[in-house]
Amino acid sequence: MQKRYLLAPGPTPVPPEVLAVMAQPIIHHRTPEYREIFAEVNDGLKYVFQTKNDVLTFASSGTGAMEAATANLLSPGDRVLVVEGGKFGERFREIGEAYGVEVVPIVVEWGKPVEPEVIKQKLKEEGNIKAVFTTLCETSTGVVNDIKAIGEIVKAEEAVLVVDAISGLGAMELRSDDWNVDVVVAGSQKGLMIPPGLAFVSVSEKAWNLVRESKLPKYYFSFLKAKESLNKTDHPFTPAISLVIALREALRKMKKEGLENILGRHARLARAARAAVIALGLKLFAPQAPSNAVTAVKVPEGIDGLALVKNMREKYGVTIAGGQSQLKGKIFRIAHLGYVDTFDLIVAISALEMALSELGYKVELGAGVKAAEEVLLKR
Ligand SMILES: *Cc1c(COP(=O)(O)O)cnc(C)c1O
Repeated sequence: MQKRYLLAPGPTPVPPEVLAVMAQPIIHHRTPEYREIFAEVNDGLKYVFQTKNDVLTFASSGTGAMEAATANLLSPGDRVLVVEGGKFGERFREIGEAYGVEVVPIVVEWGKPVEPEVIKQKLKEEGNIKAVFTTLCETSTGVVNDIKAIGEIVKAEEAVLVVDAISGLGAMELRSDDWNVDVVVAGSQKGLMIPPGLAFVSVSEKAWNLVRESKLPKYYFSFLKAKESLNKTDHPFTPAISLVIALREALRKMKKEGLENILGRHARLARAARAAVIALGLKLFAPQAPSNAVTAVKVPEGIDGLALVKNMREKYGVTIAGGQSQLKGKIFRIAHLGYVDTFDLIVAISALEMALSELGYKVELGAGVKAAEEVLLKR
């Protein structure tokens, strides 16, 4: 017998009460019963997104909503700025290229946040930029970007600001309206604590103006179609009914805990994770602007990073994430995202110590756990 623990930056663990509602018999979506659920979900999403704008819901993984943002805001040949400081920033560039958009990249060293001033300069230099694409938490590197400062800059321009908050939403502060974020993209299997399969986009008035002019092709992912249905608390197509029902339960849980407390919990767990790995003599990959959703850690010299992740999963039942792309084998990532609490993290740190020790890294067993406990005791 082996118990399993999921500390990956998506999918994340689903609370039992959320799993339970997904086991109920399916209901039809063109009914008052479903509409009541969807209405509550829409209110809950606005609460978590901290916005008065509509939040559109699609049946796809998060990337679907990233693609939808491009397809719905832009027209062929439009120019956009894309912050590329990791795998998910790159994805926005790849999507733009696939759609025939002219991408002006802002390349940021992996592990560092983007300097907002660089965006300001680029906007001035390039001119005629329709949209700025960036990421709240760059999950591949464990970096958080300063969206507030970027919002302040983009607000004054014609361009709209699009933020991939797929892993950041519900883990780190993101005041969509107060910070002038025009489009926020999110997914279901991260901070929202439900299985993969739903994606979300909030759209500001400034962004709707672009949407109405956009000429890139789209059909299923049309914002205008989604909005027309949303006005009637409906969907243009069959929604992922069981996931929407799960989301109502998860959002109720989030409201009960309160956004501020949720963010506080993520901050506390992240501080504990950082303290633990440092106590084990390891180095953070993104010490300058570490995300509270996921902690990226350098694999120490002489240790096989892939074996470490595998060992933790197979021997101890603890799933964390390795590095992606050029960081494969070079870093590992412990997520403390969504339905994760004190002892989930303690378990992960303990398994990390044991796996490191087994792979021949000199570690004082318990040193990481001790450091984490000291942080967590302070509350
Ligand atoms: C997970 C993630 C994505 C991709 O989402 P999928 O649901 O796998 O399509 C995109 N951006 C960020 C920042 C993520 O963490």
